[in-house]
Amino acid sequence: MQVKFFGAAQRVTGSMHLVQCGRFRVLLDCGLFQGKRSEAYDINRKFPFPAAQIDAAMLSHAHVDHSGNLPSLVRQGFRGKIYATSATRELASTLMFDTARLQVNDLRYVNKRRRANKEPEFHPLYVEEDVVKTIRAFRVRDYEESFEVVPGLTATFFNSGHMLGAASIRLQWAETNETLVFSGDIGRYQDPMLCAPEVVPNANYVIMEATYGDRLHQDEVDAEEQLFTLCQNVWKKRGSILIPAFSIGRTQHLVYLLNKLSERDRLPPFKVFVDSPMAVDATEVYRSHVECFNQQFLQSVLQEEDRDPLGFRNLYYVRSAEHSKAINGMDEPVIIISASGMMEGGRILHHLKQRIDDPKTTILFSGYQAEHTLGRRILDGAEFAKIFGVEYPIHCQTMRLDSVSGHADQSELLRWVEAVRDAGELKQIALTHCELEPARTLKREMEQRGLPPVMIPARGDVLNMEP
Ligand SMILES: [Zn+2]
Ligand SMILES: [Zn+2]
Repeated sequence: MQVKFFGAAQRVTGSMHLVQCGRFRVLLDCGLFQGKRSEAYDINRKFPFPAAQIDAAMLSHAHVDHSGNLPSLVRQGFRGKIYATSATRELASTLMFDTARLQVNDLRYVNKRRRANKEPEFHPLYVEEDVVKTIRAFRVRDYEESFEVVPGLTATFFNSGHMLGAASIRLQWAETNETLVFSGDIGRYQDPMLCAPEVVPNANYVIMEATYGDRLHQDEVDAEEQLFTLCQNVWKKRGSILIPAFSIGRTQHLVYLLNKLSERDRLPPFKVFVDSPMAVDATEVYRSHVECFNQQFLQSVLQEEDRDPLGFRNLYYVRSAEHSKAINGMDEPVIIISASGMMEGGRILHHLKQRIDDPKTTILFSGYQAEHTLGRRILDGAEFAKIFGVEYPIHCQTMRLDSVSGHADQSELLRWVEAVRDAGELKQIALTHCELEPARTLKREMEQRGLPPVMIPARGDVLNMEP
């Protein structure tokens, strides 16, 4: 068995690893790379292998950086099955349709400018028809239900606690009796809604994420307090709060926190908008997958008067473009949660354009901002932002809310890998889904704790798994 690291190698986005066992090839994740547009355009379009040669694909979870390029794979000739948990399939379907539509909309603006500059136009990666074909290829499997992916290779999903349906993937290759574990994205041990990450037994090799390999998050209690203080301060000056957030996972988490404040009469009477059709769909999926929630969360839901942790007074879910535009024109203080999470596209850009030069507006960052994204530049203190090709001065405030992260921090990553080591015979660890600095810091920590050898593979690197 061998694994080639093709995406999320020394960077965070575009998760994709190719596992070769005998004559079979299985792809772990097929995510969109997000970053500089021209670079992303090429990386997402050109697979480093012929798509038709892949026998099967496995999806760890629905986030776009893990699932978003599957329709390109299908468009380019992949004819195998795609395995995922039930919630992941539903969320990924919503997300892939949305990505197809978003590309068409975004390219309309971009190409107008490119035509004016006499540059060649960009084409969408895939269209809705490709998404339909992709969804047909999905096969749903439960957590901890072992199944054969290709002859001789047994796979099992384990709950990774990162978002609804998220899983770590274990692959056991009969020929050599070697076991590879792909962590997927690892969640929190104290998530307010989801179960804690499960221990994956019998691992020999581990590919694990290290997004926050050099950070410790604040507590969830702090998140609620931070949000409370921010809302109070912004309300006093009659300002607004803009929250760029992944439509799936982060948005529901934020809504739940605001719901808690509202339930306890601690939320000023802002009108709160979740402005993303995908977030509206994803919220419905969340409501229908109680099996993924932890006991404490289920209890608290039952105690609520409306029994709805994702709904409260003054909260509006926005689907139509007209309604979205109407929010833009509102003078009163609002809280807008919208996508995309790194402000690389989507409705958040229209709201940002409208409010970026207003010192009474606060942009609240609640998720990871990859290098070269607009979100990262604003967070890093840029003075101007380019939105739809036009430069705007940045006069709004920014704030960061780390603790609502869906990712394990350093201590939780170590806790996860030590549990995996104790439950198996671990020989090698490969760190992915991270920039170099956090990876190096985590590697040092792991070495100090006497964990097995740690590698930080670059794109194209290979790990050979010998018995
Ligand atoms: Zn994720
Ligand atoms: Zn990810």
